[in-house]
Amino acid sequence: MTATDPLPPGSTIGILGGGQLGRMLALAAARLGMKTHVYCPDALSPAFEVTPHKTVAAYDDEAALASFADAVDVVTYEFENVPARTAEFIAARVPLRPGARALAVSQDRLEEKGFLSDSGVPVAPYRPVYSLDDLEAALAELGTPAVLKTTRLGYDGKGQRIIRTINEAAAAFEALEPRPLVLEAFIGFDKEISVIAAGSAKGEVVSFEPSENVHRDHILKTSTVPASISPALAAKAADAARRIVGALDYVGVMGIEFFVLAGGEDLLVNEIAPRVHNSGHWTEAVCVTDQFEQHIRAVVYWPLGDVTRTADVVMENLIGYEVDSIVDLLGSGVRPHLYGKTEARPGRKMGHVNRVGAQTGRK
Ligand code: AMP
Repeated sequence: MTATDPLPPGSTIGILGGGQLGRMLALAAARLGMKTHVYCPDALSPAFEVTPHKTVAAYDDEAALASFADAVDVVTYEFENVPARTAEFIAARVPLRPGARALAVSQDRLEEKGFLSDSGVPVAPYRPVYSLDDLEAALAELGTPAVLKTTRLGYDGKGQRIIRTINEAAAAFEALEPRPLVLEAFIGFDKEISVIAAGSAKGEVVSFEPSENVHRDHILKTSTVPASISPALAAKAADAARRIVGALDYVGVMGIEFFVLAGGEDLLVNEIAPRVHNSGHWTEAVCVTDQFEQHIRAVVYWPLGDVTRTADVVMENLIGYEVDSIVDLLGSGVRPHLYGKTEARPGRKMGHVNRVGAQTGRK
């Protein structure tokens, strides 16, 4: 058997991270006859409810990581902030898919933007910011408004500030850490879209159609497919996805978020996530293969699946107490998916519904 021969059903996939994405990966793996072993420090993680094989331990607990690695055939992850040392420790013992490079690039916005630019993928103009002097110089170059972001550990809009005038620079600089920071030109985008792409160990790259995403309070609220974009723009998004997946020799599913510029003819990549992605949850209701199965197929070296879409769809996240109304949301064409979290909190993603055949207003 060579290193990338298909793993047989009954193999065990280790998943670092026990949130809803890990849970949905474990469910998809079970449908392919695979076992999963979830590793997460939080004993109440949603993914633990759908697999009997689990480790509750910290990501720097080397004894626990070693026995986890011994118990599985391949390891994947459901979040991009897996510590680099954890990734190295695992990768020295068992295949880690996607690899450590994808993690390194997506954990650091400066690395990410450098990588994307080098791969011929457009990003917003940006400058690294190590000091207040750097920030003032960068604002002079990029103009206002601009967006100051932490390079690491930002998500759902956390770790960023819009700077509207140069007078706001010092306060924004003081408010954000860890440093360095990155200043981005403010993009007056028309809309946001994303592409869920997959790469296989054989070098195939397959992308789902772009979805059009709407955020509320910095958290994804809806993804609509088809997106109201031209075929030419959809082709540009798919081309960017191919370049990114190809440049990383990427094995697994990746989410790529774009800003569509005014006029609708061009786009920039905002960020990439080396994992299944919230804006790909629509695929479970209307695609021959969904993003979770696609990821599992890639990491066990099975051929990538058919991403044909069979209906229009709107995916809506149920955030915080919205989940309490689930029973009232179950009209025709609605597929619910709840994550089994015991406690709703404002801003917490509790589940989603897919409205299949929804009037998207798109052609
Ligand atoms: P991020 O954490 O980088 O994904 O940013 C979260 C959200 O902030 C994005 O989905 C955008 O809506 C907005 N945003 C981020 N960067 C910019 C930018 N350079 N210009 C305008 N809006 C931005």
